[in-house]
Amino acid sequence: MNAIEVNELNVYYGKHQALKDIHLEIPEKSITALIGPSGCGKSTLLRTINRMNDQIQDVRVEGDIQISGYSIYEKGIRTEMLRKRVGMVFQLPNPFPMSIYDNIAYGPRLHGIKKKAALNEIVETSLRAAAVWEEVKDNLKHPALSLSGGQQQRICIARALAVNPDILLMDESTAALDPVSTQKIEELVKDLKQTYTIVMVTHNLAQAARISDQTAFLLSGECIEYASTLDLFSSPVNESTSNYVMGRFG
Ligand code: ADP
Repeated sequence: MNAIEVNELNVYYGKHQALKDIHLEIPEKSITALIGPSGCGKSTLLRTINRMNDQIQDVRVEGDIQISGYSIYEKGIRTEMLRKRVGMVFQLPNPFPMSIYDNIAYGPRLHGIKKKAALNEIVETSLRAAAVWEEVKDNLKHPALSLSGGQQQRICIARALAVNPDILLMDESTAALDPVSTQKIEELVKDLKQTYTIVMVTHNLAQAARISDQTAFLLSGECIEYASTLDLFSSPVNESTSNYVMGRFG
């Protein structure tokens, strides 16, 4: 079963075409890596999946993206409901300037959950799922910004999970972290795929090779090759894929 289907997707910023005729089928409960040199369109593609691009002026999206069989660019789609199903974690950890507890409870409260017991449970479950509960359980009232970068990023993952999404988008989410924190998040992401469909942009080819099931290689807005990660790294079909994964450019 596919969680996400991208068909004939073209994205323009003004006159500049950032994505050209993209087709992708992303199976549910798997990790998909988007790789390619800077400016090839990875983040743009990621952002089309929860319509984050809508907030950018002069952006035009053509084509179709389906999530669980529903076109997310149809008229009448409520983006707040879409973003509840499709969470996002960014490059720099960006917890809100409030307590750890309130960071996690923020989304559920916004969606109408008010009861303390229900919120407590969501906060604990989400922090556990993001592998940070043991480190913060005694300090839930402390500001999230007082934590280390790696912990803050796991708080952001917990915050995304707290509204019970199906899909988690990660945009270079370990790029600003030290190797130990990066490894923790990689392990966490591998666990999360039992429950969630994960799509991640990464500059780190070793990371894509280590943790993803499928990899898409983009170049100048085109998806040059999309295959199982094993195939794409060990026997790429396209010459530019081969050059890129061998570290010859980018
Ligand atoms: P990547 O994530 O692979 O580095 P991006 O998706 O950020 O690539 O960018 C793809 C192309 O779209 C680049 O040419 C970039 O300059 C352009 N672009 C990205 N964001 C914007 C924007 N907000 N306005 C105009 N052009 C943009």
